[in-house]
Amino acid sequence: MKTYACGHINPDTDSVCSAIALAYLKTQIGEPCIPACQGGLSPESEFVLSTFGLEKPELKNDFSGENLYITDYSDLAQAPHNLKETNILGIVDHHKLGDITTSTPLECWIRPVGCTCTIVKEMFEHHKVEIPKNIAGAMMLAILSDTVLFKSPTCTKADTKAVKELAQIAGVEDFKALGMEMFLVKSAVKGATPRTLLLRDYKDFEMGGNKIGIGQLEVVDLKVFDDMKEALFADMKAYKAEGGRHTVMLLLTDIITEGSQFLVVSDDESKVESAFGKKLENHQMWVDGVLSRKKQVIPVMEKQF
Ligand code: MG
Ligand code: MG
Ligand code: MG
Repeated sequence: MKTYACGHINPDTDSVCSAIALAYLKTQIGEPCIPACQGGLSPESEFVLSTFGLEKPELKNDFSGENLYITDYSDLAQAPHNLKETNILGIVDHHKLGDITTSTPLECWIRPVGCTCTIVKEMFEHHKVEIPKNIAGAMMLAILSDTVLFKSPTCTKADTKAVKELAQIAGVEDFKALGMEMFLVKSAVKGATPRTLLLRDYKDFEMGGNKIGIGQLEVVDLKVFDDMKEALFADMKAYKAEGGRHTVMLLLTDIITEGSQFLVVSDDESKVESAFGKKLENHQMWVDGVLSRKKQVIPVMEKQF
């Protein structure tokens, strides 16, 4: 029986880096653990790993018969196949509590902070294990990614403190500049298929018996989507039909002006309109100040459904 650490499907940088960091920590305290991810890496995550010379985690989406530490989610919809046949040893997460249950006691580190890597850093401190330079750098960028360079309402003092300390360990002088470089990589969407973009940071949610899918693309300038919206809408419609979804939304988030352009394909657009108190025009609306799906979108949508 092997032990793995792995984040959610459609892995983002936090899912990838928290699995790497947690697997390292567990291995150091005498519990050999392998980092894994449930899907291909985004250009942003590739940038983070190559900047700090880290290997890509093993690609794996079925852990049956193995031990598993879950990072960055606790929803069944984001879990690997055959989770019932997987021995879940622990959950480290910063989202709302999901619907994963276990048959044996487990280790749980769940905190309302901006990033799972912030919690993993606390775990290193708890176990008095030093964080290697390269892993510290990757954790630092994961926190900057999840908190949108500290601008997201999910960002806490624990996150800013963690970034400063990790930057010092990693020997990064200007972490803001490196964070901006990462967001520029994230903003390069040219050449990617609509499906790749829709699913790059996408999650399905169960809301009042309806399947609601919400994707998000964070960029430094929304102009990159100007010639792409029609193709994105066509693919969102197809994806909605394929999965029997009630709604598929894509948030095009401008991290500089701080707000999101919502693209909406829904059986009932009025639900989305009343959730945000705005009218959709051509299935689109701009909502000022919305940066966080977790804190500013999911809770208001759940209330509607
Ligand atoms: Mg995540
Ligand atoms: Mg996260
Ligand atoms: Mg995110």
